[in-house]
Amino acid sequence: MTTNIILLGPPGAGKGTQARKLEEGRGLMQLSTGDMLRAARTSGTEMGQRVAEVMDRGELVTDEIVIGLIREKLAEGGNGFIFDGFPRTLAQADALGALLDETGMTLDSVIEMRVDDEALVRRITGRFTCGNCGEVYHDDTKPTAKPGICDVCGSDDLKRRADDNEDSLKTRLLEYYKKTSPLIGYYYAKDKLAPVDGLAEIDEVARQISAVLDGK
Ligand code: AMP
Repeated sequence: MTTNIILLGPPGAGKGTQARKLEEGRGLMQLSTGDMLRAARTSGTEMGQRVAEVMDRGELVTDEIVIGLIREKLAEGGNGFIFDGFPRTLAQADALGALLDETGMTLDSVIEMRVDDEALVRRITGRFTCGNCGEVYHDDTKPTAKPGICDVCGSDDLKRRADDNEDSLKTRLLEYYKKTSPLIGYYYAKDKLAPVDGLAEIDEVARQISAVLDGK
């Protein structure tokens, strides 16, 4: 049996951090449409150029593009997926349902990561990641042990996202409330929703997610 889950929550809720923990702990594969789009924009393809401006403004890229990216990844198969940052609209949620049906997979749980908006602004404006291994850091809550060097892999390629500033974040939050938050009701009605406290410590959030997945 494979496990397929969605991590649902506003930007800065900790979806990427928890997805990485689930990859390590359970051998699931993180499918982050944000990461795929960031890879596409640096690859210099036409699609990459088109999405770059949209992303920097903090708006959502078209459903067609992200559904296409997810379709390709699902076709590769695997041990189970963690959808991180997808779906973000009702059309994407319907498309994901259809894709899972086509490939004979099921959706186990939608983990709703609850956080308040004040905390999101603090989290996002201090965030940076390792460009080599993807580890996520924060200026105040999780700095690197040695300044400028990744604790995990030793790389000095530490980066801040172009859209992690207050202006883009306001747009990203609005996009979340207008287009993504209806998915909470959508998955509740499908009996898939499981809320966790996204403001708790990283390991405590991971424990709450594990309890959901193990049915405790
Ligand atoms: P994230 O890394 O998930 O915060 O995504 C960064 C940006 O990529 C978002 O602000 C959007 O511009 C775009 N993006 C990522 N995932 C999606 C999606 N499922 N639908 C539309 N746009 C997306």
